[in-house]
Amino acid sequence: MANSFINGKTGVYGLMGDPVDHSFSPCIHSKIFESIDENSVYVTFPTKKESVGEAVKGAFALGIRGMNVTVPHKVSVMDYLAEIDDTACVIGAVNTLKPVKNGFKGYNTDVIGVEYSFSSRGIELGGKVCLLLGAGGAAKAVAYAMLKGGVKRLYIANRTLAKADALKNRLKTYFQNEIITLTLEEAENIKDTEIIINATTIGFGEKTGLSPLSENFFEDCRAEVCMDVIYTPWETELLRLAAAKGIRCINGFDMLVYQGTAASEIWHDEKFPPGLLNKLKKELTEVFKENERGKTNE
Ligand code: NAP
Repeated sequence: MANSFINGKTGVYGLMGDPVDHSFSPCIHSKIFESIDENSVYVTFPTKKESVGEAVKGAFALGIRGMNVTVPHKVSVMDYLAEIDDTACVIGAVNTLKPVKNGFKGYNTDVIGVEYSFSSRGIELGGKVCLLLGAGGAAKAVAYAMLKGGVKRLYIANRTLAKADALKNRLKTYFQNEIITLTLEEAENIKDTEIIINATTIGFGEKTGLSPLSENFFEDCRAEVCMDVIYTPWETELLRLAAAKGIRCINGFDMLVYQGTAASEIWHDEKFPPGLLNKLKKELTEVFKENERGKTNE
């Protein structure tokens, strides 16, 4: 039945954040509903920061079946939840809400999106050295995924060193892996990294065309994989530099799609088979690229 027509039984899911009008999540979830033949819609709810508590309460009262939460509410929403999943507690951010007995339970599926970006390609994290650039919201989920995946050393490089130190101190309570913090300038001298992940905004929006690591960095770099959590542009300058050296590249689109499918799995209390996930990713990639082409032709 999917969402081709709306009737009295149509379920409602949504996204709260500010802004939300650029979001690809309605597209992801509409495709999922279509694939699993569910009569539901997924809509965006622009939500100002002073209204987060009321929005959560109202969504629960109205029987919204599941919510995603995006920038800038991923941390503040935690004050209004009935329960919080352990992983989300460690990360300190929530992007998925599922109704439980007395309100919503919060989860973090960004971390699942990162994990799946690697595992779906058969890339092992155990025993590796990882250089993470950034210490903001996305970086927190990346750091958790890397430490849980068993990297032996995690460098966290950030423009503001104090934020990298705060992230390290938080994660040190839960993980034994070695964590070293440094500035982005110091990251240029890291020679032993096998995995590079950009979770800064460098390469996105006004910073399109810029890279958080210089071309020189890649001269004697032995990294096997380079991931950028950014997906517009599809290939950031960082990924272009890495690809030119034969390094395997992953952009942020898989993270985006898999955080969405993971949220839906939580809402539906079921694991989607790998075949369905692959099919969704393929179809969504086509839709996304078509949308991007449409924007450049406007
Ligand atoms: P955030 O919490 O605001 O963090 C921004 C990060 O970028 C911080 O580490 C910040 O460093 C750094 N940064 C910003 N401007 C910089 C500059 N001019 N020079 C050096 N560093 C700079 O943002 P976020 O939510 O983590 O998002 C980060 C990126 O991830 C965005 O591009 C977002 O679109 C993307 N993202 C992708 C997904 C996905 O599913 N693929 C999910 C979430 C986010 P300071 O700490 O020094 O400010």
